[in-house]
Amino acid sequence: ADAFLSVRDLRVRFSTEDGVVKAVDGLSFALERGTTLGIVGESGSGKSVTNLTVLGLHNPATTTIDGEIVLDGKELLTATEAEFERLRGNKMAMIFQDALTALSPYHTVGRQIGEPFRKHTGASRKEARERAIEMLEKVGIPHAGQRVDDYPHQFSGGMRQRVMIAMALVCDPDLLIADEPTTALDVTVQAQILDLLKDLQQEFGSAIIMITHDLGVVADMADDLLVMYAGRAVERGTVREVLKSPQHPYTWGLLASMPRLSADVDEPLTPIPGAPPSLLTPPSGCPFHPRCAFRGEVEGSGRCVDVRPDLPVQGRGAACHLTMDQKTRIFTGTIRPR
Ligand code: SF4
Ligand code: MG
Repeated sequence: ADAFLSVRDLRVRFSTEDGVVKAVDGLSFALERGTTLGIVGESGSGKSVTNLTVLGLHNPATTTIDGEIVLDGKELLTATEAEFERLRGNKMAMIFQDALTALSPYHTVGRQIGEPFRKHTGASRKEARERAIEMLEKVGIPHAGQRVDDYPHQFSGGMRQRVMIAMALVCDPDLLIADEPTTALDVTVQAQILDLLKDLQQEFGSAIIMITHDLGVVADMADDLLVMYAGRAVERGTVREVLKSPQHPYTWGLLASMPRLSADVDEPLTPIPGAPPSLLTPPSGCPFHPRCAFRGEVEGSGRCVDVRPDLPVQGRGAACHLTMDQKTRIFTGTIRPR
């Protein structure tokens, strides 16, 4: 059967005063119904752009998109704005990092949660208010019957994030896109929100795309992982595969901040030196080569600067010219890099 969401060879380019930015450069992935895909990468890796494109929230005047995005059999890149209006908030919904920018300060939370419900179901104001109270209860807001008439600023950061989740789930979407949903919160509240999302996913059965720079956020939450770098996917696998035996040097660098996961390696990993590349003038060959400690003298690695390694279109893999054996030998010092 076809995947619930399928993205094939997606390319997103922005025209800017300085030139064309290749924000997403040939990305493919698939998402099954009711499962969670973690998309991990630094800012500028293309992970947010990809998802704004899925939601049809890009600026058509400055954006060029090629490829294919199919949601439940519907091709989205040819969808009209009216079709996106029907899909957004209904079949697919989004939660953002910052609830204060997603929620209006001028309307009660009950009104804001109820509005998409009225719009997509034709419910009355009274029904929408009841639904809003029910949703506030589901996301764990105490005294929902009173709090429904409060304004966003009357809630704490964590509670506001819960309100935004209530708003996103009010129409029982098949796809929920969460972009750094817990980044602004302290660690305890972050864990509570992730637990809540897991529970609600069980109840609502939504597929989730969880976008984050933090592998820790997706470790317990996602089924599959996609690691993005410079607008491309560099590694893909189940969460277990990627965290237990990462294959791409960039993923190894990301894991450096999670030392318990590199327990089979004697030496501690060092964070990745350097910065992500400019997408105006992306590096030749492997986009990671300017920062990669593994390119160099090893047989085959001469191609790193000239030839772009590809990720297999589906299944487990990494976009890297070196075999795992070569990288492991460099890593353990059996052969010396550069
Ligand atoms: Fe590093 Fe070369 Fe692999 Fe790119 S292809 S990640 S430069 S070893
Ligand atoms: Mg982002």
